Amino acid sequence: MRYGNSNLVAQVTNLGVNKIRNSMKIPLMNPAEEYQSIKDDIDAALLKFLAKGQYVLGPYVKQFEEEVAEYVKVKHAIGVASGTDALLLVLDTLGVGEGDEVITTPFTFIASTDVILRRGARPVFVDVEPNTLNIDAAKIEAAITDKTKCILPIHLYGLPCDMNAINDIGERHDIPVVEDACQALGSALKGKRAGALARAGCFSFFPTKNLGGFGDGGIITTDDGDLAETCRLLRAHGAPRKNYPIMLGYKSRLDAMQAALLSVKLKHLEDWMARKREIASLYRAGLRDVSGLTLLDEPVGRKQAYHQFTIRVQNRDGLKDALTEAGIAAGIYYPIPIYLTPALLEYGYEAGLCPETEAAADEVISLPLYPTMKDEAVKAVCDCIKDFMAKPTAD
Ligand SMILES: *Cc1c(COP(=O)(O)O)cnc(C)c1O
Repeated sequence: MRYGNSNLVAQVTNLGVNKIRNSMKIPLMNPAEEYQSIKDDIDAALLKFLAKGQYVLGPYVKQFEEEVAEYVKVKHAIGVASGTDALLLVLDTLGVGEGDEVITTPFTFIASTDVILRRGARPVFVDVEPNTLNIDAAKIEAAITDKTKCILPIHLYGLPCDMNAINDIGERHDIPVVEDACQALGSALKGKRAGALARAGCFSFFPTKNLGGFGDGGIITTDDGDLAETCRLLRAHGAPRKNYPIMLGYKSRLDAMQAALLSVKLKHLEDWMARKREIASLYRAGLRDVSGLTLLDEPVGRKQAYHQFTIRVQNRDGLKDALTEAGIAAGIYYPIPIYLTPALLEYGYEAGLCPETEAAADEVISLPLYPTMKDEAVKAVCDCIKDFMAKPTAD
């Protein structure tokens, strides 16, 4: 696989990328079209917010927190500045720090590893299952040591992890489990929603997430009253009252304007998720019999809130080029196992640590998926993939 610095630099400095993106006939996601579909309600809410003058915390954040708590079915929701900060505040509240270990997956966005390292702890990477690309619960127990302070599974692409197995391990060893549910708002395991499946759940409202804001935002969900109270303190300088800090904190609040607009969008989440699940079914039907590509599983009892629709292909880069050529955007989530990224060079992880992750990083490709996507667009993507895979050079 290619994870050298030079390749990364080439990717970052490839100025042609934006030009290609702007001419895409079928984008990967489409937050602007999502806005257009509910423009009147969003515009009205924004004007009302601007006129009211309560720009930090206040009634909009409180109301949105209550709505999310009710939706996820937990007692508490605490709005923070981003999904990354949600993770940071929860790990801080659990006392994760210098010398501790946190068990997590290397096949994800950098945020979770970032916060573990920022807390002074060491990420202990456990490999993924090849059929879901979520952390392999069967490999977690062997990674536990007397330094393990937390288990942090990530519901990748919106598919809940095997949380029953993971929670069992956590209980047996008395180690708290925290969900990185940033991609998974709306997903469920046996009817119970992500964010209510462990000690605490962390969500992101980054514009392309299941519930996308108009900027950054995040929220923590939990049934644990003490954890909730500490997170509330931490997000506002550790001060229960102005100028009376009782602990060192952060400045990390969910922006009130985002909260006001997210309240409007939350009402549409179920419909949007249903449409994305419909599109996923179309992809599955259209691609099932194409040889040379592998669909990921949605195991029985789990409802995936499709953040991405991702497949595995041997000649992934070739397929991506063919799609680009046809004006179809595709994403690679994620091209490099986290422990092999340049940012982690000094931490001493080595290639070969998680073979399933390393194989997946070479094979995954995510296809266009957004609630306003038309059936014809899904068909066009499937046709393009079939054409490419039928070519004799395809592998
Ligand atoms: C997006 C994301 C985050 C970080 O959320 P931000 O709001 O961008 O800080 C963390 N973990 C996962 C799995 C994500 O997809």
